[in-house]
Formats: sequence, C-alpha cells, structure tokens
Amino acid sequence: MSRNHHKVIIIGTGPAGLTAAIYAARADLAPLVFEGEQPGGQLTITTEVENYPGFPKGIMGPELMNDFREQAARFGAIIKQQRVTKVDFSGPPHQVFTDNETFTGDAIIISSGARALLLDLESEKRLMGYGVSACATCDGFFFRGKKIAVVGGGDSAMEESTFLTKFAAKVTVIHRRDQFRASKIMQKKAQANSKIEFLLNTTVTEVLGTPENGISGLQLKNTANGSTSQMPIEGLFLAIGHVPNTDFLDGQVTLDKKGYIITHDGTKTSVEGIFACGDVQDHVYRQAVTAAGSGCMAAIDAERYIESQNH
Ligand code: NAP
Repeated sequence: MSRNHHKVIIIGTGPAGLTAAIYAARADLAPLVFEGEQPGGQLTITTEVENYPGFPKGIMGPELMNDFREQAARFGAIIKQQRVTKVDFSGPPHQVFTDNETFTGDAIIISSGARALLLDLESEKRLMGYGVSACATCDGFFFRGKKIAVVGGGDSAMEESTFLTKFAAKVTVIHRRDQFRASKIMQKKAQANSKIEFLLNTTVTEVLGTPENGISGLQLKNTANGSTSQMPIEGLFLAIGHVPNTDFLDGQVTLDKKGYIITHDGTKTSVEGIFACGDVQDHVYRQAVTAAGSGCMAAIDAERYIESQNH
C-alpha cells in the first residue's frame, strides 16, 4: 500500500473528530486526521466552557481543544493541517483529496461539523466570544442580570431567548421582518414571557464594543423605513440557523433535506466503511460532550468494520 494509505482517515478536528482520533489511535489504527478550515472546531470561537464534564472550574474553549489534540497525538494520531476538498467513496479503499495530495483509507470518519450562520459583520467576528455568541446553551450563563439581544425569527431565536431569560434581566429579539418564521407555539411561549421584548423590521448593522470591555450596544437599521438607531446592550446572541459542513461530500453519502449526514445503527452512513459523528450528523443536541460521545462511537464502529473486512 502507498504511504498515503491509512486504515482510518478522520475529517475534522472538533470534539467528535479528535475523540474518534484518540480511540482509533489507542486501537492501534494510527488514524490520519485532517484539521480542516477551523482546527479545533466551533469551540475555538467560544471563550469559557463551563458544561464540559471534568472541569469543575471551567476551561477555555481553545485550551480544551488543544488538550484533545495533544491527547490524540500522544497515542499516535497523525494530524495534518490540510483541508479536504473532495472525496471519492466508490472504494474500498475510499479516496480523500486535499489541495495537492490524495489519500486512501479503509474506513473514513466524517466529523466536519457545522457552522452557525453569522451576520457577516467585521465587528461581530472581532467580538465573537467577547459578548457575541452563537450558542445560548454554552454562553447564556455569563449574562446573568444583563440586558441582551437575540437575532433571528425562527424556532431557535424563540427557544434561545426563552432559555436566556433564566439569566438575563431582559432579552430583546431582533427580527428583520414583521412575521416570524417560528412555529406558533414557540412564538406564543416567547411572547408570554415578560422578560422578552420584540424589535421587528430591524437588522443589526454594527456591534459596538471592544474585546477588552465586551459589547456596549448595537447599531440598528429599520428595514421598513431605513431609519437608524443605537441600542445599549451587553450581549448579542445569533440564532439565524446553522449549516453542516457537507459540501465537499458532493452528495456521496445520503444527507437529510437540511444537508446533515443521515446515520443509522450508531454512526454508519449510507456507504459501507464511511462513518459520521458530531454536528455534521446532529442538528438537535450540538454539544461538545455529545459530539465527543459520537466520536468515540465512530471509532469503535470503524474498528469493528476494519476487523470484519480482515476476516
Ligand atoms: P431558521 O428556521 O432557518 O430561522 C432562521 C431565522 O433567522 C429566520 O427568522 C431568518 O429570517 C433569520 N435570518 C436568517 N439569516 C439572517 C440574516 N442574515 N440576518 C437576519 N436574520 C436572518 O433557523 P432556526 O431557527 O435555527 O431553526 C432551524 C430548524 O430547527 C427549524 O426547522 C426549526 O423548526 C428547528 N428547531 C426546532 C426547535 C424546537 O422545536 N424545539 C428549536 C430550534 C430549532 P427570515 O424569517 O426573514 O428568513
């Protein structure tokens, strides 16, 4: 076999991919792991993680992912700083392409994650993790007693604004239209909550603040009459949807209508020898700990598959 052949190839290095790497490496499979566009995944754009078990005092997201990476490398995972651009799953062996190399694997684990949709503002990127968040479950706790805003008009915006009222003094839902996309029941629940108010026909055009001092306000634009205004605020949550990172698969495994990989019997996909774990196949839980759990499952599934092929 060529030096570019590996028993297991793992695509993505969030909690799912790196947990799969730890387990596959400890099973003596010397997995080849591609870091991808966002090494460490979505946790690297958050600050403190307080809900990952085992860290009673919390841990910074990037530090946690560094530790995952170090642990995988310690057991022999080969981590490459390359992005997978294309795959060919007509094998075995299956092929994985980067910009300038081709690799083959007996089993492939896809853990390329998902990304939260953002507003595409420079200030939003700069303040991500410093007052701007795309994960209410992860970061809501830091906004106890504060005045915050949630952008979006779908079920996530309703659910997250309701959840955030556990901590925040007041939550303003900012939506670009005057009709919500959210289901009636979720809208009603949010509307019945006295801590939530709604700002319709409004978009956020700038987030005001600094990484040192956090955010102080929002620059807003009324989509109906074009007028602009400022709103003092201490936290901004984006709830405008997520997209799974599945474009590079070019439809070679079965996806659901939102583009997430469909898994069955653990982490199996529609193609034998191809497994998926983490947010790329989960739009429901989306937690580091659930992603890590499914990464462990994928490594065990891959190991059993390789074993069955050898006999
Ligand atoms: P979504 O349904 O796609 O809603 C996204 C919302 O964000 C829409 O209101 C959209 O506005 C707005 N939006 C999108 N891009 C924007 C931009 N650039 N600037 C400003 N606003 C923008 O996404 P979601 O709420 O995350 O829900 C995703 C799926 O999960 C849905 O099927 C939902 O039902 C489901 N979900 C279910 C539950 C539950 O049942 N417990 C909870 C959460 C999510 P427009 O309306 O103008 O397009």
